[in-house]
Amino acid sequence: METYIPISYLNDFIFCPRSIYFHQCFGRSSKRLYHSTDQIDGLTAHKTIDKNTYSTSKETLQGLEIYSEKYNLCGKIDIYDSSKYLLIERKKKIKVIYDGYIFQLFAQYFCLIEMGYKVEHLKLYSMDDNKSHPIPLPKDDEQFFNKFEALIETMKSFSLKEPFVPNKNKCTHCIYHTICDVSAC
Ligand code: SF4
Repeated sequence: METYIPISYLNDFIFCPRSIYFHQCFGRSSKRLYHSTDQIDGLTAHKTIDKNTYSTSKETLQGLEIYSEKYNLCGKIDIYDSSKYLLIERKKKIKVIYDGYIFQLFAQYFCLIEMGYKVEHLKLYSMDDNKSHPIPLPKDDEQFFNKFEALIETMKSFSLKEPFVPNKNKCTHCIYHTICDVSAC
């Protein structure tokens, strides 16, 4: 059986493919020890979701476990509003819309579609400044859709044995740099 890729790994893989190895070593229970300040902020923003405290509306699904056999992905959604067919991913503060944010929404979208939900709108929401950022659906953004599929394929086939050149700038900011055997700092 093929192992599912946690959706949360997509962003980290873009930062550095080797960081996924450390995630797997330290497991999900050690999140706080091995996440940067920004990531901890993100986790805090998601606390209300995991505790199902965002809304009691029957039309709002929070923290739903999702998966896609097609893309070998699993994870959780943030918020799905079934009255608007709207999927929302909240971040503490969005200064830049990174590709990884969009891929994360695409991944959630494809999981929901495969599970039989209807999704017509995607949105990133920046909590600190109360800003919404609508994101086109994959079918309306061919370039990002192709990049998303290429990323999934690269993740599926990635091996630690592949030739790898560390990026010093990234290593300096990487939470694993003290334990990583190829760190450039
Ligand atoms: S220390 Fe550098 S090479 Fe190692 S996981 Fe972090 S970013 Fe990647």
